[in-house]
Amino acid sequence: MNIADKYEAVIGLEVHAQLQTNSKLFCGDSIAFGAAPNTHVSPITLGHPGTLPKTNKKAVEYAIKMGLACNCEIEKDNYFARKNYFYPDLPKGYQISQHTTPICKGGFVTIKVNGTEKNIQLNRIHLEEDAGKSIHDIYDDYSCIDLNRAGTPLIEIVTEPCLQSSEEAFQYVTELRRLVRWLHICDGNMEEGSLRCDANVSIRLKGEKKLGVKVEVKNLNSIRNIKKAIDVEIERMIVVVEQGGTITQQTRSFDASNDSTFSIRDKEEANDYRYFADPDLAPFHLTDSFIQNIQSSLPSLPQQLAKKYQREYGLSEYDASQLCDEKYTSDYFQSIIPFTQHYKAIANWIVGPIRNYLNENNSSFEEINLTPQTFAELIKLVEDGKVSFSVASSRILPVLMKENKSPIRIAEELNLLQVSDNNQIEIWVNEVIAKMPDKVIEYKKGKKGLIGLFVGEVKKISKGKADPKVVTTLLEQKLNQL
Ligand code: ADP
Ligand code: MG
Repeated sequence: MNIADKYEAVIGLEVHAQLQTNSKLFCGDSIAFGAAPNTHVSPITLGHPGTLPKTNKKAVEYAIKMGLACNCEIEKDNYFARKNYFYPDLPKGYQISQHTTPICKGGFVTIKVNGTEKNIQLNRIHLEEDAGKSIHDIYDDYSCIDLNRAGTPLIEIVTEPCLQSSEEAFQYVTELRRLVRWLHICDGNMEEGSLRCDANVSIRLKGEKKLGVKVEVKNLNSIRNIKKAIDVEIERMIVVVEQGGTITQQTRSFDASNDSTFSIRDKEEANDYRYFADPDLAPFHLTDSFIQNIQSSLPSLPQQLAKKYQREYGLSEYDASQLCDEKYTSDYFQSIIPFTQHYKAIANWIVGPIRNYLNENNSSFEEINLTPQTFAELIKLVEDGKVSFSVASSRILPVLMKENKSPIRIAEELNLLQVSDNNQIEIWVNEVIAKMPDKVIEYKKGKKGLIGLFVGEVKKISKGKADPKVVTTLLEQKLNQL
């Protein structure tokens, strides 16, 4: 038996998402990324004595949005607790967090792995403030501290220990990132640290009910690294156990330069954070109507929409999921719907040439200028056989993306209109048949697949302007008459 088959992995993920509010969780300092160090640091951020924090309502609203999107129960009676510990980037000596009353409880996120849906159970989503940043790589002899980030609102999304593979973790974080972006509550940028993930990993013998000792792996700054780190950690644990060793509870760090994890500290017992309710912040009660208003402002969620696009517009699962990759793309798709019924064509254009064009030009569907009317005309041009899809996407689209002009006008101006005139096409067809006598003989002997070659050749000499349907019909007629 393969050693790996003896064991199963159990994974629980803790994901921190920075909320895209204007200001911090308890004061008016900006949370903008990339400002000069220590420029968004009011006395409240610095934790000066006598200052009073005040809760940011937007942050509370964003946390509830995420909770509702993840099927959580919303806690109505909330308070903030102080989580006491010392760290240089934590000027107050405590982090304000939620302890016994996370704002969202339970819930789940649905993922799809190998074609099967699975609900990843959540334990909680709570609100807390971020710490500052220690920077160790500028000077050899000392470290720097930037407190701009201190006090930035975060939600921490904690799963139950219920994931079974690195692939599930990959899909789960991918889905979380899509959701926070969809809801416009976090930009999901893992390189800038707006979305951060710690992976808790343990192994146990297959069939065993008790959980194994867990290791928490930190510093996973991409979804790919989350997957890799979990894989190498599972492998490492199996080797330790197979060699007769035991796993110790540790916090480890992932080193992406050589795909390995190393221990940063042993965690023999639970830390004692001496939690208590923050006396400077009043508990806050959420009314039903406040929650209800957030619920009704929630947009349709990507998984529901992808199903709707398959059901109502006959799109494939792939097309539907691509359209629902981000909200701007899906919104754009929906804005075209009233103007044409060629749904599959809309999807092809959006997922193909338009998205490519936007990517290549560092733009996005948020900024697209192509109006629904013009888009629908472009689709019609191709459907009517006036221009081929490939000519339309390579020659007409780039013009349309810059100026709102009629697609047919562009086709005329650039001399791109397809020729469906039989006389002209016949000339091209004859030319091709005359040019390839050997292939004609092979075709006559039964190699019917060669028709594609002839069509391609006509396409070439007509510079893409010969209507392929007419070409094929004519070619077949001619060849059969020979
Ligand atoms: P801690 O107090 O060490 O942070 P928690 O019980 O709060 O631990 O859990 C933190 C995360 O670790 C959760 O996502 C949870 O699902 C996960 N977890 C807990 N125990 C295990 C385990 N034995 N194996 C894998 N993950 C675990
Ligand atoms: Mg933890």
